[in-house]
Amino acid sequence: MLKRPLALIAALLLILLFSWSLRSKPSAEVARTALIMGTLVEIKAVGPDEKSIETAISDAFSTMRTEEARFSTRVETSQISAINRASTAVEVEPQVLFVLQLGQEISRESGGAFHMGLGDLVKLWNFEAVTPRVPALSDIQQVLPASAEDAISISGTQVERIDPRTQLDLGGIAKGYAVDRAIDVLRNAGLESASINAGGDIGLLGGHGERPWKIGIQHPRNLGELLATVELRDRAIVTSGDYERFFMDQGVRYHHIFDPQTGMPARGCQSVSVVARTVAEADALATAVFVLGPVKGLAFLEKSLEVEGLIVDAAGQTATTSGLKDQIQWR
Ligand code: AMP
Ligand code: MG
Repeated sequence: MLKRPLALIAALLLILLFSWSLRSKPSAEVARTALIMGTLVEIKAVGPDEKSIETAISDAFSTMRTEEARFSTRVETSQISAINRASTAVEVEPQVLFVLQLGQEISRESGGAFHMGLGDLVKLWNFEAVTPRVPALSDIQQVLPASAEDAISISGTQVERIDPRTQLDLGGIAKGYAVDRAIDVLRNAGLESASINAGGDIGLLGGHGERPWKIGIQHPRNLGELLATVELRDRAIVTSGDYERFFMDQGVRYHHIFDPQTGMPARGCQSVSVVARTVAEADALATAVFVLGPVKGLAFLEKSLEVEGLIVDAAGQTATTSGLKDQIQWR
């Protein structure tokens, strides 16, 4: 007879526990934006309560600002600026070493399509100017990187430019790295679901609740329109496009992704989106593939099992890697 009330109490306790666990499940969703690295960064996160999400998001924003300063060539005290000034090898911190090694790897794999030594070329084109213009061909030729495949040599924790006339610029990879570190901050704060979009550099933590995140890919010519959507969780997706920073001159579009061999804007693509494990990798790969163009670029992406991509060529035709075909929804 005693067993029955005990079972009843146990059952009641179980129900109580179950409803309590339901209530303690993530319930709040917060979205915040901030201007970092010259782009609007949006963080969305799901968590147990608004206050703890807000704190995690503001920590993530500060981390991105720290990383921006670490890799900026405009910050005199950054180690990248130190390498750009030094005539001997510079001892670098682990974060810088990591990014330079990844950049070097992708630079070599892409045959120099991704190139970290375009600092002077970027300055010469000066897309930040109020009225940017096409530089003289002779000026462009003077700032082409001397070493075709790579800009730096790394030995242990020491970094040196291969050619002392080369100025490093990490604009094609640093933003992605900063998003990765911000995702780390959100994960370490105990959040299981978040997305960070830094002007087309997107990092994802988990899914969006039970579902994957649904990521829109911008149409490169119809602004504000989506070309496609992709469903992803725990992944990075980065888009490099000729519509991000550009000016028109006599009907020709000049944009900020350069072919390191000619010093001119790369002509093969309108946009390239790359899915990878980390945002840093996807960032550098998107830039590399944009320069390689649709044919070489697609072959380059297909070589890696971990990486997928969508390319819009100069005529607006699309191509995707075989692994992405089933994941993409066209608009
Ligand atoms: P993204 O928007 O990631 O494609 O990067 C473009 C930025 O990377 C430019 O604003 C430059 O700072 C830099 N960049 C331009 N062309 C290249 C290139 N071929 N390889 C590496 N970085 C580049
Ligand atoms: Mg990039």
